[in-house]
Amino acid sequence: MIKLTEVETFYGKAHVLKRVSMELKEGEIATLIGANGAGKSTTLKTISGVLHPLSGTIELMGKRVEKLSPMKIVRMGVSHVPEGRRVFPDMMVIENLQMGAFVLGNDRKTIEKALERVYQLFPVLQERSKQLAGTLSGGEQQMLAMGRGLMSDPKVYLLDEPSLGLAPKLVDKIFEVIGQINKQGKTILLVEQNAYLALSTAHRAYVMETGKITIEGKASDLSDNEYVKKAYLGR
Ligand code: ATP
Repeated sequence: MIKLTEVETFYGKAHVLKRVSMELKEGEIATLIGANGAGKSTTLKTISGVLHPLSGTIELMGKRVEKLSPMKIVRMGVSHVPEGRRVFPDMMVIENLQMGAFVLGNDRKTIEKALERVYQLFPVLQERSKQLAGTLSGGEQQMLAMGRGLMSDPKVYLLDEPSLGLAPKLVDKIFEVIGQINKQGKTILLVEQNAYLALSTAHRAYVMETGKITIEGKASDLSDNEYVKKAYLGR
């Protein structure tokens, strides 16, 4: 579904992603774990076109996309839910969701259907549809950000730190929904600081250290890897 080959991304002169190669197969959840500042968010931004790599290639369903704008990449079926939620605080919940559907055009029925799908996953968003997004709790804002990202009915769903700052009960709920979203056929790339949860949810996993992929494999194998256990699972 997505293939990165030797991707190199810079912020000005700062060389952040170093020959990053990754592959996401259709229908799987892959996770990218690593310490703060390793380059995980930069990887997602490079896939969604917010940043362009200086070299290397990114293929989406066999088509090269590394030079395309975020708008074009969204239209090709990629949705990026950024770290920190970034909801529009002064807009209602329903308006935030509608913003996520802009690529669907103005067809009311299609937008209604998309809303129904999101409300099924996150019933609280329907209950609070007229509430200003800025007044939602952190967990509700995370659900809103995830819901907004689903409104375009993406094939690939990029999720950046969905559990950040949430109480354990809410984290469980968020991960339960991630499983449901995947079962609906979406391919997911999950960046997550909670390595234990990430590895128990994902099929494949990548460890990133100072901009390089240092370990990759089946998530269950990484959970048993002595280095991963020590460095990321606190065991
Ligand atoms: P975290 O979990 O802390 O978000 P991360 O693995 O997602 O970590 P990135 O946000 O991708 O890390 O950052 C990778 C490196 O790039 C860091 O050294 C960071 O300081 C740097 N960086 C990120 N954004 C910018 C920017 N806009 N300008 C310059 N440097 C940046």
